[in-house]
Order: sequence, then structure tokens, then C-alpha cells
Amino acid sequence: MPTVNTVRGPVDVDDLGQTLMHEHIFFMATEHLDNYGRGAWWDEEFRVADAVAKLNAVAAKGVRTLVDPTVWGLGRYIPRIQRIAEQVPGLNIIVATGIYAFEELPHQYEHRGPGLLMDIPEPMIDDFVRDLTDGIADTGVRAAFLKCVVEQKGLTPGVERICRAVAQTHVRTGAPITVHTNSFTQSGLIALDLFAKEGVDLTKVVVGHAGDSNDLDYLMRLADTGATLGMDRFGLDVFNPTAQRVATIAALCDRGYADRMVLSHDAACFADYFGGAWDEARGTLAPNWRYDHIHDDVLAALLDSGVTDDQIEQMLVFNPKRYFS
Ligand SMILES: [Zn+2]
Repeated sequence: MPTVNTVRGPVDVDDLGQTLMHEHIFFMATEHLDNYGRGAWWDEEFRVADAVAKLNAVAAKGVRTLVDPTVWGLGRYIPRIQRIAEQVPGLNIIVATGIYAFEELPHQYEHRGPGLLMDIPEPMIDDFVRDLTDGIADTGVRAAFLKCVVEQKGLTPGVERICRAVAQTHVRTGAPITVHTNSFTQSGLIALDLFAKEGVDLTKVVVGHAGDSNDLDYLMRLADTGATLGMDRFGLDVFNPTAQRVATIAALCDRGYADRMVLSHDAACFADYFGGAWDEARGTLAPNWRYDHIHDDVLAALLDSGVTDDQIEQMLVFNPKRYFS
């Protein structure tokens, strides 16, 4: 049986069960935290305990696996995630490698690479492969998938280099990819086109944030490549309200696309976008942006819209399993 690497080690893909395919535990800028959070709004013990409580609560609702695409650019720090995973025995946590950048490459890669000041093979690929095969830093935790971004500005030189490095790492290792896209500029098409040219198996790609769109033509064009649609921002009504997200999924299920969608919230236990006022801001601006909105509200709404239990199982269990197999 194929296995997938989780924070606590390899797990049989048959044991992944219900899987939320795009959630963060934390997303933060490490320098913001270290310089302005510590001694002010960041309380490590409180935040770890809060995450443990929220993750145990969603596990109690039947979720067995949470997929966390927090990479460099979003404050990935695996020792903290390991600490949390040890206290959430009912939930597998799968972590990623890659770069989260909307336009510019991190300067740490700017002068290293083919044809650059330090003329060496693409160092991002070496770093990503190491995360996938040896483990991240000295944690022993192996990433199980790749993450990159194609946002509003499309393939800037920095974004293109990252996406090509991610694609080439996929070709070398077989690790699947989740790409953050901007549905309003339909950047998913740009991402898939680049991946196809790099020889990526598009059935191993999740087009993240596709669920922000209700444009069925756009969504079917993406899915017809074999890629999976990330219907992954439930609770972020500012981009697309829940009722519309549900109607779009029901329409796609009706057209035979239940095997090309996965469900999630893109939520977090804490993010530093509002300084220390995360809980207050989230509670006011997006009260349903939490790990249990799908189980509390969305699944019933999907059933009411004509989506079947089998189709829900397909989106929550079988499609994630296929992605990681
Ligand atoms: Zn995300």
C-alpha cells in the first residue's frame, strides 16, 4: 500500500480518511513575530494549546487528515507543528515545501542558480527535494507535497522561476502540487499551462482557491486538464459567500466533476495579518472561517442542493487519497 508522509511519520493512504486539503495551522511572517510579536501579542504556550484544542475539535467531527500548505513566505516552522501534532493523536497533519511569493523571488535565491552570479543548478530544487526526501531542517519531518503561487500579476520572473522549480521537483520526485491561484484573474489557467510544458502530471495538481470562482466555464476548463479544483475557502465570504460556493459545487457535481474537487477552508488557528487581534478580527470579519464550518454547515447545504453522500465522500476522502497515492 502506498504511504504518505505526515508530521508523525508515514501513514497508509487508506487511513487518511476525511481530509481537509488546504488549511493552515499558523501563517505568520517570522520576522514580524520575532520583532513585534514576542513580548507583545505572541504567547507561544497559549497559541499551541489553542491550536491543539481546535484541531482536536475538528478531529472529533470526523476529519482524519489536515493538509497544511504553509511554506517559506507563510512562516513554516515545523518544530511547533510537531509539538502540536503530538497532542492531536486523532489527526494526521501533512506539510509542504515550496515558496509562497506573489511577485518576487526571495533574495536568498536571487544570485544563485543557472547563469547567475553563483552559477549552479537550480538551488530551489535541491532544497525542495531535501524537504521531501530527507526531511525539513533537523526535524525528521518530510514534506509530502509542493506549493507555489500564481497570483494577479501572473508569471513575474520570480514567480515563473519558483513555479518551474516546483514543477521540476514534481517531475523528479512525483510529489503532488498545490498552486495558490487568483480566480478573479483566472490565473489557474496560466499555472496549468506552465506545469503542462514542464511535464507535470496534471492529475497531481490542486488548483488552490478555484472555489472563489462561480464561473463554470473557467472551472471546467481547469478540471478538463485532469487537475483537481480546490474548493478551499469556505468561510471566506469576502471572496465568495458559502451559498454561492455550495451552488457552484452542486452544479459541477451535476456535470460529473465530483472526482475533480476537494473541500477546505484555508483557515488558521492564528495569523498575524491583524497583529495580535486575530481572534477578534476573524470573529467579526469572517466568523465561519474556521476548521469546522464544512462539517457544521456546508455538508448539509450540499446535500440540500442535490449533492449525494457518495459525491461528498469522493471530495473528502477519495480525491485526497488519489492525490497522495
Ligand atoms: Zn492557504
